[in-house]
Amino acid sequence: MQFGDLELISLSDGSFRLDGGAMFGVVPKPLWERRAPADARNRIRLGLRPLLVRGEKTMIIDAGIGGKMDAKSTDIYGIDRMQNLDGSLQAAGVLREDVEIVLATHLHFDHAGGFTTRLESGQIVPAFPRARYVVRTAEWEDATHPNERNRASYLAENFVPLADAGVVHFMPDDGEVMPGVRVVRSGGHTMHHQVAIIESGGLTAVFTADMVPTAAHVDDPWIMGYDLYPMDTLAFKRRLMRDAIGRGFLIFFEHDPDIASGYIREVEGRRLVEPVPAA
Ligand SMILES: [Zn+2]
Repeated sequence: MQFGDLELISLSDGSFRLDGGAMFGVVPKPLWERRAPADARNRIRLGLRPLLVRGEKTMIIDAGIGGKMDAKSTDIYGIDRMQNLDGSLQAAGVLREDVEIVLATHLHFDHAGGFTTRLESGQIVPAFPRARYVVRTAEWEDATHPNERNRASYLAENFVPLADAGVVHFMPDDGEVMPGVRVVRSGGHTMHHQVAIIESGGLTAVFTADMVPTAAHVDDPWIMGYDLYPMDTLAFKRRLMRDAIGRGFLIFFEHDPDIASGYIREVEGRRLVEPVPAA
């Protein structure tokens, strides 16, 4: 998709499954299951959709769940990578060596799993050999000092080898990552979760990561039970959704099983997503 002077390509690292109740927080099941049907284990299917941005540099935002999960986790999370990031990059005509910047919204395994890869020797190395990995400093601190509540989401194998290889670029604050792309801290999901704002030729797109994970989450109170600071999610989302509707932002849904991106419309008080077909 051409977006001003930038090219945006939604990628896929397959799909996985999470508990439907946890995905919708306080929303009762009779309401959420109309939007996201649950399987026999009460899980809903979710996408893993990193975004490739080509402009002055070639950048990928998040990198999916990756191929390092063991059989037990693969089963619990229903990971299906028949379609995966390698195939998706290939279809886009991009080699891993071409990627110059890998941007992390946060370091949970379903976003950072693809940052590293395990060699046959067992060694874990950066999956994008020429990239620098842009990570928010305080998110790194949290990920490397987990607590009982977030420990299961932060797997050291996804990010510690990056520091060992000396390829992490720490960003302490909001700011520009490359021309046309900047990060803004949202908080909410994790204290230092950030979204990417993409601006070019008068157009604005937002890679919302876990602020608006699927098109079913566009209503303000539809907030994940996983979020550590749900009231912060609510405050950020209210503003974001109001701007998205009023100013016509293109919104990317990193975890939607079917819709990579779309415009939010409000019709008679109801929010709808007008999907943008994949390029
Ligand atoms: Zn996520």
